[in-house]
Amino acid sequence: MIKLDAGWTFDNRYARLPERFFSRVSPTPVRAPKLAVLNRSLAAELGLNEEALRSEAGVAVLAGNRIPDGAEPLAQAYAGHQFGYFTMLGDGRAVLIGEHVTPSGKRVDIQLKGSGRTPYSRGGDGRAALGPMLREYIVSEAMHALGIPTTRSLAVVTTGEAIRRETELPGAVLTRVASSHLRVGTFQYAAQWGTKEELRALADYALERHFPGGEETENRYLFLLEQVIARQAALIAQWQLIGFVHGVMNTDNMTISGETIDYGPCAFMDTYDLKTVFSSIDTEGRYAYGNQPYIGGWNLARLAESLLPLLNEDEKKAVALAQEALDQYPTLYHRHWLDGMRAKLGLAEAQEGDGGLIADLLRLMEQYRADYTNTFRALTLGEYTGMALFDASEFREWHERWQTRLSQDSVSREEAYERMRLHNPAVIPRNHRVEEALAAAVDDGDYSVMERFLEALADPYAYSLKQAEYAELPPPSHRPYRTFCGT
Ligand code: AMP
Ligand code: MG
Repeated sequence: MIKLDAGWTFDNRYARLPERFFSRVSPTPVRAPKLAVLNRSLAAELGLNEEALRSEAGVAVLAGNRIPDGAEPLAQAYAGHQFGYFTMLGDGRAVLIGEHVTPSGKRVDIQLKGSGRTPYSRGGDGRAALGPMLREYIVSEAMHALGIPTTRSLAVVTTGEAIRRETELPGAVLTRVASSHLRVGTFQYAAQWGTKEELRALADYALERHFPGGEETENRYLFLLEQVIARQAALIAQWQLIGFVHGVMNTDNMTISGETIDYGPCAFMDTYDLKTVFSSIDTEGRYAYGNQPYIGGWNLARLAESLLPLLNEDEKKAVALAQEALDQYPTLYHRHWLDGMRAKLGLAEAQEGDGGLIADLLRLMEQYRADYTNTFRALTLGEYTGMALFDASEFREWHERWQTRLSQDSVSREEAYERMRLHNPAVIPRNHRVEEALAAAVDDGDYSVMERFLEALADPYAYSLKQAEYAELPPPSHRPYRTFCGT
């Protein structure tokens, strides 16, 4: 039999960091690996051969049963604040198999999630269930299509083994692709337990990987901090604009690259409400929709603290530099958010009163319990049906003001509506639709519902007829929607 070459091209630099940052550990083989879903367009982007990935040898790699040439499997060490409490963590159920370099020269981490126990597993079994891995696949790919920086999902493989949760569930392994898996928590780990030289090695690695050119700046570690702040400000603004609730913004789940990571309890908000929480364990609403920008700032402060020893020899000066950088965050965030909101309303130019116009719309949406995505979809289409908001006289007054404001921009009305179509998705992964797709796949082995859904999600700004059904709201029985962590 000719073994097809999948095209893995590994060049592993994280594995060259001091030993403190990882443990060499191989994935634990699984009994009967079977490909559940493969991301063809991502495979192509990565320069991987689809046919080879689908072959027995290819699937064996995606299951962790075979280590491809050039891979150096390891579990990464990291710490983090979980709901405000600092703790040692690390890859407890994931293994980085290596850094793959794509034909265009992009470097990505290839990580198997659900790949068995590691030295960081604590009491856990190191495994993942099929439902949550498919959920991560759907939502991360939807986020990518929405234009939001995110880790990607290359494949999900079922293991042929059951895992024990509250009940027995089918096990699965997800292949996660990321610009890197460096987290705020990786730096916290280095600051807490590493030497200054180890912290510096980590920071240099992060700079080289994500912010090349930083070496030439006057204070490269300050540059690193500023860049992460800028990326997170942009990212979290995008979450807010799209109505995404991450659900578990612990510092170990915040990347240095500025990509969204960890799709455990996340969900998209239906009804506009700043207090929206989906996660069953977030009883205090720490990670509520409206809190996300503040938590982003809190997490970045933890990164800044970790970097202090590198910012300046003089601790006072280091603190002042860190504070100055952190002070930029609210301004940066707000600028991204405001620009994004303007775009959602089709506004091409900035005016003093825009903030007020936006705030008034949001207030009405909250008052009339309007669906977040569908409000902007309706404004884009100019079709006002199906929501109490649209029957309110205050909304009609607001609409009048908005139309007047639109006419003050120098661009045509067509251009304004085109801008809206590019910023207001016609379709998002609505919770009841995600659940429907997962139930068909997990309970009946029917992946067609998910495939069809993924197709609609792949082009969220298309406003095609085929997508229209996915814009429909869930029946009231589906609320409130609850998500679960660490599943
Ligand atoms: P998460 O909630 O996915 O961010 O995970 C938090 C921490 O728990 C990480 O260190 C994970 O590796 C670890 N973890 C989650 N689930 C498991 C599991 N089934 N077995 C071992 N470790 C786990
Ligand atoms: Mg995590």
